[in-house]
Order: sequence, then C-alpha cells, then structure tokens
Amino acid sequence: MATAAITSFLLAFAAAVGGDPTAPSHGIRPDTLLLRDVMVVRGNGTPPFGPTDVLLRGNQIESVGKFAGKEAPAAEIDGSGKYLLPGFFNLHGHIQEERAGIAIENEYQFSLWLACGITSVRDVGSPFDRSLELRAQSASGAIAAPRFWIYPFLNNGKPEALRQQVRELKQKGADGLKLFSMDRDALDAVVGEAKALGLPTTIHMGVEETTVLDCCRLGMTSIEHWYGVPDAALVGLQRFPPDFSHSNEIDRFRWAGRLWREADATRLETVLRAMVDAKLAWDPTLAIYEASRDLTRAQNQPWFRDHLHPGLAKFFEPDLASHGSYFIGWTSTDEAYWRENYRIWMAAVKRFADLGGTVTCGEDAGFIYQMYGFGYLRELELHEEAGFTPLEVLKQATVDGARVLGVDASLGRIRAGHLADLVLVNGNPLDNLRLLYPTGADIEVDGRPVHAGGIEWTIKDGIPYHGPTLLERVRAIVAEARRAPKPAAPGTGGAGGTGGGCCAGG
Ligand SMILES: [Zn+2]
Repeated sequence: MATAAITSFLLAFAAAVGGDPTAPSHGIRPDTLLLRDVMVVRGNGTPPFGPTDVLLRGNQIESVGKFAGKEAPAAEIDGSGKYLLPGFFNLHGHIQEERAGIAIENEYQFSLWLACGITSVRDVGSPFDRSLELRAQSASGAIAAPRFWIYPFLNNGKPEALRQQVRELKQKGADGLKLFSMDRDALDAVVGEAKALGLPTTIHMGVEETTVLDCCRLGMTSIEHWYGVPDAALVGLQRFPPDFSHSNEIDRFRWAGRLWREADATRLETVLRAMVDAKLAWDPTLAIYEASRDLTRAQNQPWFRDHLHPGLAKFFEPDLASHGSYFIGWTSTDEAYWRENYRIWMAAVKRFADLGGTVTCGEDAGFIYQMYGFGYLRELELHEEAGFTPLEVLKQATVDGARVLGVDASLGRIRAGHLADLVLVNGNPLDNLRLLYPTGADIEVDGRPVHAGGIEWTIKDGIPYHGPTLLERVRAIVAEARRAPKPAAPGTGGAGGTGGGCCAGG
C-alpha cells in the first residue's frame, strides 16, 4: 500500500471506530470502557486467568474475554501487567464527620476508601439520617463514594420499646441493624422483630449476658469482632481481678487480651460448629486491635505523615475521653498477652472457615490508630497471617462480603451482567497483598528495591476513580485541615463518635 492509501485507510478506520479510544477521565462514567490485557481474579476463589479484556457498558460489566467488537470503546485502559479484582466490601465501616471535636470532610474519608479499593461499605453505627442522605447521594453518583448499606445502631433496652424502634428504623430505610451489648430478652425481641421485617442483623457481641450461642439460636446474620466467641467457650465466667471496672477502658482492653486463653478448647470447637450450622458469618476486624499487640507499629504507620487527618491524630492520642485510646501505661506484658490472644483468635477464625463458616473483611477505622481504607488493607494482611491464602482473602473481601449483604446476584464478582465495581492493581496482589496500598510497596527488581504497586483505578458503578488523584486530594485536605482545623458541626458525633463506646470495645 502506498503511503497515501495507508493514511486514507487509517482515517477511514478511525472514522469507523469513532476516533482513538482514550484513557477515562477521573470521576466521569464513559459510555463504554475497555480494560485491555488484564489478569482477572473473579472473586469467587476460582484461579486467576488472562491476560484478557473486560468491557464495561454504563454501570455494568458487558463481557469478559478477548474484545473483538467492531465499535471502539469510548475509553480504554491498558491493563498489561495489572490485575483486575472486584471492588472490596468493607463490612465494618463508620461514616464519621468528626473526630475529637474536629470536622472530618466526607471527601477525605470517601476518597481514602475508594483509593484503597473499597466500593461497598456496611455502615454499622453512625448518625442515621445523615447516613441515609449520603447513601442516596452515592447511589445517584452525586458524590464520589462507595455504595452504602446503613445498619443503624441499637442498644440494650426494654423489649417492647426496642420492637417499636426496629419498625421505625425499617420504615425510615435501614438496610439492617447493628446491635450492641444486649440482655437476652432484649436480643430476642430485636432479632425476632427484625426477622419478621426481613432485616439482617449483626452484633458487637461483648462479654455479656448473651453470647454468640444466642446469635446462633436466633438465626442472626453475622457477628462483629470476637468477644462473644471465647466467652461462650469459658468454663464459668472470665477471671477478672477484684478491682476490675468494665467502664475503664484500660481495664477493659487489658483483660480482653486475656480472654481467648481462658476459652476451653473442646467447648470452643463446639461453639465454632454451632456458628457454622447456624450460618452465622464472622467479621473478625483483626486490624482494629493491632495496637494492643504492637503499639509502636500502630503509632508509626508511614502513611500517617501526609495522610493522617488532624481530627484522627487528636482522637488517637492516649486519652480515656476518646473510645479506644486506652494506651496509658501499656506494658510489654500487655502486648505479650495480646500476641497470644491473636494466635488463638486467628486459629479460631481459620478453624471456623475450615468447617465451612463465612469470614468477611471489615476495618472499624477511625479508632485505635486505624485510618479509613488503610485499616481495611491491613485487615486483608492479617487474614493472610491467620492462615488464608491471598486468593482466599480476596474472596472474603469480595464474594463473601456481597453474600452477607445479600447482594451477590449483582455484586462481588467479575462476571458479565454484574455491576461494574472493580479494582485495577499495578502488579499481582496474589504475590503480595501490600501492592494494594495506595502508597505502594517496595518490590525487588534485580536485587534492588523498587517502589511499585498501588491501585491505579477503582471503578464504582462504572465510574472510574484514579487512585493517585484520590490520594493527592486526601493530602491536600490534610494539609489544609492541619493549617486550619475546622470545629465539628454540632450533632455529628452520634453513635461511634467521641467516647461512643459502640466499637471495638472490650
Ligand atoms: Zn465499629
């Protein structure tokens, strides 16, 4: 072909395909988006495959497989060397608009969640009306945020009043309920009413009159944290010192670190089997307690330098007025007990999964030195430490989370017809989960350290968000808030706010 002929052929081709496809714009959903030459981790535990192509149309995955369409996509991403995963489910989030009296911008929290690959959040206790507003704004694409499922918070109380509260919350639009520390008659009433209304229930099961066996008996959906599991396997009651006070968080968390060692191994096996039989899922939130076993690590996370909001920084300072900031006189002995606590706890989570139980991933960030998103990625690492392979961890973070929320028919997997919630990683997270951190990780190339990794794009409902752009925005918000912190708006504390005591509490 002569040069002129080639040129005219190319021009004709370009006209036919509507011009060169370009990279997508941050925050704008293209009509069609082609992810070319990606390795795919579907999310359901099946082996990774590819390189192949994934075509999105609007907010849906249209096809998975080599793209041979005549129509050029409106936007295209070269995915060579990259891994595509379903968007992550954070089953224990709190929308927080203040910490320690300082306002937290929604954009700060939501950008961090998206930058860390989180496209779905189960909100388990935040100011309810405000959460409903944000859920609607996210669903319509008005704000850059994950999808939200709102589980308002219910505390102990009189059974009839609680039943009424459950009906009102359902009527106002609750997706489920988050329960906390209940006596048996209260728990029976709440769960009975919730089941009659078709509302799923999860619980922060502390050391209470009730244990996880009550959750099994009542057919609840899931449990948060862990206390109610070893508590159900004790012979008698936990052995506290005579001057112990549950109201004092130093006492409470110190002695929580000695709870798993008191569980009877035979009874524990029975409890885990009962949980599996009752189809009660477990959201262990391993990361939120990590400061208890390694305070120095928790206080010196490298991303704090440029990304820690001054509201969080102030909230994390040891101070009994802030829930979870109990590190006053924390000793090497406390850490040694907590390390043993983790060993038994992790073995129990693994055993539960081996018996057929569903394990999910949740962060509970905004407390105890955990930042939004980063705490979630640390959770994934700790699931690996508990004995799961990265492929299993990614299943817990995606398919299993979607199943517990009851949305696995349309979310949680990379499959044609599913909603387009996806994460594109620079590198292979099955080789190193740390590649998921938006600040990247050091990898070895020819014997030398090279900084790599990071999530390049998080796609939620077909809208692509560029990871580095999100993180740049987070740094700008932090710099401004450090220069001139804004006081929290009245009423933004709510459940899970300062001293709220709803979370991670022993
Ligand atoms: Zn919580």
